[in-house]
Amino acid sequence: MKLPFTGGCLCGAVRYSCSVEPELMYYCHCSDCRKVSGAAFYPGLYVERKGFAVTGNLSSYSLTADSGRTIHRYSCPTCAGQIYSDKGADTAMLSIKAGTLDNVSLFKPTIEIWAQSKVEWANLPSDLDSHKRGYGE
Ligand SMILES: [Zn+2]
Ligand SMILES: [Zn+2]
Repeated sequence: MKLPFTGGCLCGAVRYSCSVEPELMYYCHCSDCRKVSGAAFYPGLYVERKGFAVTGNLSSYSLTADSGRTIHRYSCPTCAGQIYSDKGADTAMLSIKAGTLDNVSLFKPTIEIWAQSKVEWANLPSDLDSHKRGYGE
């Protein structure tokens, strides 16, 4: 992947740049991701926070997820576009929402997580490494 890669929200008020290769690119089928996106699943890029720089104001919403952990979701307060999520500002990793990429073809998912919550109308490639719950669970 050519670094840095960039992206932003629908209205352009929030922009980001990421200077590290994603550790993982995945689809999440958890019910929280479905609700927050309004779509069947949520595509994400799991990256080290140290490579991620964001500009613009962000709103955040925090909720205890199916995994039992608190997930914080960051969005643009103007257009409501979801940008990224994390498990707290002190954690090393965060998850960028793939639909925010300037170049969406950079997204090459290899796994799906929370497949136990997958909806029937989510048709994805069958060669994905499928995890019933979260990654590593
Ligand atoms: Zn926006
Ligand atoms: Zn999820």
